Amino acid sequence: MTQRGDAINTSRESRALSAASMPSTPSTLSTLSTLSTLAGYALDIVLPPQCPSCNCVVESAGMLCGPCWRQIDFLGAPMCGACGLPFSFDPGLVKDVLCGACARHRPPYERARAVMAYGDFSRKLILAFKHGDRTDTAPALSRWLAASGRDLIADAEVIAPVQDLLVRRKRTPPQGRLSRSARRRNVRGAFKVHAARREGLAGRRVLLIDDVLTTGATVQACAEVLLRAGAKAVDVLTLARVVRAEQE
Ligand SMILES: [Zn+2]
Ligand SMILES: [Zn+2]
Repeated sequence: MTQRGDAINTSRESRALSAASMPSTPSTLSTLSTLSTLAGYALDIVLPPQCPSCNCVVESAGMLCGPCWRQIDFLGAPMCGACGLPFSFDPGLVKDVLCGACARHRPPYERARAVMAYGDFSRKLILAFKHGDRTDTAPALSRWLAASGRDLIADAEVIAPVQDLLVRRKRTPPQGRLSRSARRRNVRGAFKVHAARREGLAGRRVLLIDDVLTTGATVQACAEVLLRAGAKAVDVLTLARVVRAEQE
């Protein structure tokens, strides 16, 4: 423990020292960012910014064109206070209304929120971003995440993508056709906390970031693992979520 503390202090000191010995660092950094802004403008002039989805010309980089924008089913209130499932009716001023599934069995996470409904269009957008062919979608996607997750982000003490906090212990077969209880069994014990992240979780409110919430079984398993590791509460923010009419 003491050794660990020492190691951290030493690295902090050495960082402070290296910063002190290079007084030009801040100005170098600002020059660099000015240069990259300039390079960005230059590229915009040579190559006009394109819609990251359909490649038509748009006003500024990282923006979707109107027709693509209109294909996105953005999610918002009214929705289930727990899982974020959008409601087709407005429960009015009643706060924290739950969908049927969450009312019967409250998920281990506190709140799950998503930017958009999962469908053909959002799937293509997210896959292209994940596979790195369209990193120009990053500014739009991160802006949307910040807007949809405003409350969750404000309350969070630890914010991390799932793969930064948890490791898979076993391969799980696809969840697609399984029943709700089979899906839960399927992912039970599938994750554990990264040894290096365990210490930072105790007593903290954690916000997990993931790309898609499908059945919810996976994030539920992740939330259970984090709570067992000492997290105070877990919220979940995803780019998309599957929206199905309630079947049960
Ligand atoms: Zn477009
Ligand atoms: Zn719900």
